[in-house]
Amino acid sequence: MSHLFYQGHGRKPVLDQARGVYMWDTDGKRYLDGSSGAMVCNIGHSNANVLAAMREQMECATFGYRLHFETEASERLAAKTVEKMPPGLNKVFFVSGGSEAIESAMKLARQYAVSTGRGSRWKVISRSPSYHGCTLGALAVTGYRSLTAPFAPMMREMPKVPAPRAYLDGRDPEDPATGRHYADMLEDLILMEGEDSVLAFLLEPVGGASTGALVPPAGYMERIREICDRHGVLLIMDEVMTGAGRTGAFLGCEHWNIRPDIVVLSKGFAAGYAPLGGIVAPDWMVAPVLDQGGFAHGFTYAGNPLACAAGAAVLDEIDAQGLVENAALMGARLKARLHALAQKHEIIGDVRGKGLLLAFEFMADPVTKRPLPKELRAFDRFVQIAYDNGLIVYSRRTRDGVEGDHILVCPPLIVGDTHLDEIVEGLDLSLSQFRAELPALDRVS
Ligand code: PLP
Repeated sequence: MSHLFYQGHGRKPVLDQARGVYMWDTDGKRYLDGSSGAMVCNIGHSNANVLAAMREQMECATFGYRLHFETEASERLAAKTVEKMPPGLNKVFFVSGGSEAIESAMKLARQYAVSTGRGSRWKVISRSPSYHGCTLGALAVTGYRSLTAPFAPMMREMPKVPAPRAYLDGRDPEDPATGRHYADMLEDLILMEGEDSVLAFLLEPVGGASTGALVPPAGYMERIREICDRHGVLLIMDEVMTGAGRTGAFLGCEHWNIRPDIVVLSKGFAAGYAPLGGIVAPDWMVAPVLDQGGFAHGFTYAGNPLACAAGAAVLDEIDAQGLVENAALMGARLKARLHALAQKHEIIGDVRGKGLLLAFEFMADPVTKRPLPKELRAFDRFVQIAYDNGLIVYSRRTRDGVEGDHILVCPPLIVGDTHLDEIVEGLDLSLSQFRAELPALDRVS
């Protein structure tokens, strides 16, 4: 009997060892970690250099409260992080995870507005579907009904614009008119809510768990920036999943060369070696807040030296092994192979993503975009079949928690061609087994 209830009523095998892209349970069964945990373990498991850096830090100090001491580890990580940011983003605030980082970004934006005489602005617009975390503030900007509904009375839900799912709406993602169409919905919403009440727009550059690696259509990101500028709205980039090289650039937003006002990091930032997140903001935002008494915010574990030492060592490894470049290279190869799988397995209705943030979506009929019947719980079932075959992938329902199933394929950024072979063989086998279980599907095509 377990005293934990993470798994609902189910039980999972017990983890024994993890090395590189592989994990073993206590029965000796080997798994290829095709989702890097929850898109976290970007540099693979048990990296010797990171373990050594953590050990070294542990020998010196494992905790120093941030209001009592500065630490070399947090200063070093902050400097390394700033080096990787777009120009101007030079102030870092550490936390212990993605939800904490989202809360911190929204609170910093709000305190900046208050400090600069714009106290009427408090609404943070985000997208639907989206996932930005599970604390009540982060849930208020999360567009995923099955996760938010039970808590609705306890929070102040924020306005949402539709995510730009061109593939579902039958629009050409390469046509800049498509990007304009979705971006202009943000402008309409800002005007409807009242420009003076809108503080920020929060989005992931490439969608993660909620939309399954949704890549924005041409022109969307650039226009979003213009709209935010026009209406004095801050642009907060949730790079929790996309950051630290996952999409083949250090930040996902670099693919569009747009300048965020706040960058939010976690997951790959310490790559699972320690709980770590952070926000990076420009001096012009932080200075007025500090001038007026400081940021009224902070977690006990923030800036923890062990977590920061792990983070700094992870960034060193990303550079030393050229993992951002490898994510771009291997991501392009894996995506091409997912497209080939889609040719063979007709239940794959869409393949999408950037770098090694890739996904495919099941559809009963790709012509009508009809999803698989909800009661099949395809997302759960496929993941279990793959898991039984020794391949870990990640899934969620795609369409606002109501219908549609996508599977994220996001291995560690250290993968090589032989790993891709293994992933594709595992998916191919699992797709055949999954299809054999399905009832007949009526198709137009
Ligand atoms: N933002 C995004 C884009 C995420 O994918 C997640 C987690 O999956 C979060 C925020 C929340 O992060 P955490 O689970 O570390 O609180």
